[in-house]
Amino acid sequence: MWLEKLVRPEVLSSKSYSSARMENQNLDLILLDANESPEPPYGEQGSRLNRYPDPQPEGLKRRLCEIYGVERNQLLMTRGIDEGIDLLIRSFCRPGLDAIAYAPPTYSYYKVAASFNAVKSIEIPQCSGFSLDLKALCEVTSVKLIFICRPNNPTGSMPSLEDLKVLCTSRSEDSLVVVDEAYIEFCDEDSATSLLADCPNLVIMRTLSKAYGLAGIRIGSLIASEEIIKLLKKVLPPYPIPTICATKALEVLSPVGMFYLKRRLETNKVERALLFQRLMSSPRIERVFPSQANFLLFTSPHSKQIYRELKESGLVVRDRSDDVPNSLRVSIGRSQDNELFLAALQIKSSDLESTQRRGSKSRKTNETEVFCEVLFDSQKGNLISTGILFFDHMLEQLAAHSGISLSLNALGDVGVDVHHTVEDVAIVLGEALKEALGNKRGIERYGFLLSMDESQTNLSLDLSGRAAIVFDCSFPSERVGDFPTEMISHFFESLSASLGAGIHIKTVGKNAHHMAESIFKAFGRSLKQAVEINESRKKAEQLPSTKGLL
Ligand SMILES: *Cc1c(COP(=O)(O)O)cnc(C)c1O
Repeated sequence: MWLEKLVRPEVLSSKSYSSARMENQNLDLILLDANESPEPPYGEQGSRLNRYPDPQPEGLKRRLCEIYGVERNQLLMTRGIDEGIDLLIRSFCRPGLDAIAYAPPTYSYYKVAASFNAVKSIEIPQCSGFSLDLKALCEVTSVKLIFICRPNNPTGSMPSLEDLKVLCTSRSEDSLVVVDEAYIEFCDEDSATSLLADCPNLVIMRTLSKAYGLAGIRIGSLIASEEIIKLLKKVLPPYPIPTICATKALEVLSPVGMFYLKRRLETNKVERALLFQRLMSSPRIERVFPSQANFLLFTSPHSKQIYRELKESGLVVRDRSDDVPNSLRVSIGRSQDNELFLAALQIKSSDLESTQRRGSKSRKTNETEVFCEVLFDSQKGNLISTGILFFDHMLEQLAAHSGISLSLNALGDVGVDVHHTVEDVAIVLGEALKEALGNKRGIERYGFLLSMDESQTNLSLDLSGRAAIVFDCSFPSERVGDFPTEMISHFFESLSASLGAGIHIKTVGKNAHHMAESIFKAFGRSLKQAVEINESRKKAEQLPSTKGLL
């Protein structure tokens, strides 16, 4: 069989190590088989940390297979993709004899792992515009493994599934094609797993390190035919996945976690497009390469100088000029990070006219870190992330109905309680709105709205410059989703104080979700009316106040 010729003979002939937890995983029995401590350490009573883990924790494996759309026998979990790379090289390449190939500029660990395994590296450089030299990759002789990074780090380019299929078919029985999909979640295209059925020599690597935000727990997956997985399993050390890592991964991969991930990926796409556009507009920057990942590569004759300037502003990017002359790679950060990055490069927002009403505030305490940008009369859209799902939902209603573009990012101690985060978001949002209102000349000042389904909110707003709050509403339940309803009055209280506004809210209804939603929507609508510019008043530079002060 072709695979038996490809794998190292030592691997083929070796017997699998049979670990205790492989033979017996029933932790309800009295386990005296693995020389473990009979009890967990102090402080960990009730945990199973004294026991060796399942070599391939079953629950996590099932969940990963579900997410990646593959069968149980097609997946092997490793300590990140990095261990997967080493495992493949050790399993297939004989030291001093065999070689791997890859297409620079690309991820550098392929070469590193080959070299410490005494395996030769053959480089098949990418063509101009960073496309694969498919012909050369198909024709290179005597290589056991061909590594293709998709999307590619550091260029962001995306080898097509058609090209991969051609490559797999043409290599057929003389090499494995290993596709590194560390960043696949960030792009619109499908994973190469769809080619598995047609390509027995294909291996795909996935990870929880990048999009899932779990680089700290080291969980990667190798996906391939059952025959390849069986061989790799022999070489993988007995217990690669620590119990706590598997538990943590399963938590994050819950439906709520996946929902949150999807939103983060959407945000990344929007931020990536904005950053791309604005980098392109800078005369100091030569080229920006289109990217399908969570980073952008750009070149400039002043790349070294730019690197130093950024560093002086407290920003670190990656100098990739060894691989691509005069290049820097920047990760897509939070909106505030990206703004600082662009500001340090002296790139002004081209879509912002100087007359645009805009407010941007941030606040950092021991408990929270909040950034908020509001743009009046803008099509930019909303990016809202507070770590509290129901609160995000409400803020989205507020933004949508106010016609304001809202970027809001809060990192708070929501594990303790949502109180600090909700309060600080309200404070920063109020301050940003106040800044955007500027001198208030020309505004309508008042807004109001009534109604919604079985719930009805009667909300009036006065941008008077003075804080006042009346909140008349009793919710039929203490929580909606992950949000305590008592926080709603507190939110508007804090907002009224920082914005300097009178807010009167009276709500009746039967369903707490509807009631909350009607309040946030009503506030959005009221805000829209109140901040609207009245053209005749604007011409006269008038304030809607007989006092002449707001
Ligand atoms: C970051 C990165 C990896 C490492 O992934 P881990 O799962 O954290 O080991 C692998 N490949 C590429 C292309 C990367 O950029």
